[in-house]
Amino acid sequence: MTQTDPCQGEREEMVEFQIQARGVGDLRVLAAMRKIPRHLFVPKGYERAAYEDRPLPIGEGQTISQPYIVAVMTEQLELAPQDRVLEIGTGSGYQAALLAELAAKVISVERLPDIAARARENLARAGVTGVRIVVGDGTKGYPPEAPYDAVIVTAASPEIPKPLIDQLAEGGRLIAPVGPRECQDLIKLVKREGRVEKIPLGGVCFVPLIGQFGWKGEGSL
Ligand code: SAH
Repeated sequence: MTQTDPCQGEREEMVEFQIQARGVGDLRVLAAMRKIPRHLFVPKGYERAAYEDRPLPIGEGQTISQPYIVAVMTEQLELAPQDRVLEIGTGSGYQAALLAELAAKVISVERLPDIAARARENLARAGVTGVRIVVGDGTKGYPPEAPYDAVIVTAASPEIPKPLIDQLAEGGRLIAPVGPRECQDLIKLVKREGRVEKIPLGGVCFVPLIGQFGWKGEGSL
């Protein structure tokens, strides 16, 4: 994963041209993205595309997000090494691997058991420890480990699920795509003295968040 990794050069280029060049400057985030082997989080046959400037399919109609969007969301979480983070939508496990580089504890909730199983395999292959994957409806959050210093939602819903706001610690940050089914606004919430400040970060397109406080989909839990 260090000098011998044949993809190190591609990762350096990804970080320089897709991420730094577009204004993401947090050095810890950039270092994490240089380190985590993204090609181990895409399906077989897609390894060559792993460092391209786009999302990729990961099965069951789901996607691993474009590297730039992952970078923006991660930077906006403003993670400190002692932070406890909740991710909703484990997908490939790539975002969770980055979070584990930057924070003390990561809980990631995934609705689809097969996707969760593959994410566990991906994380193990990449040598990432420190992510706990829970199968369930993440729109309800994960109360046993609450409150969280940061919450990141990587699937889109019409509104931010209220349980996630409730499970945010004082001073906590939450990032989520919010809006219609196809494309949405990326929203950041910051909880200060019990009040929630809302900051729009721009347009994005995410797969739907399906569950009790999200979209009602077929085969919901
Ligand atoms: N963060 C991922 C990409 C997520 S794709 C990565 O780094 O690869 C969105 C994921 O959210 C999909 O795997 C989908 O199954 C999951 N999802 C959708 N609704 C959910 C819910 N209510 N709870 C948990 N996961 C959900």
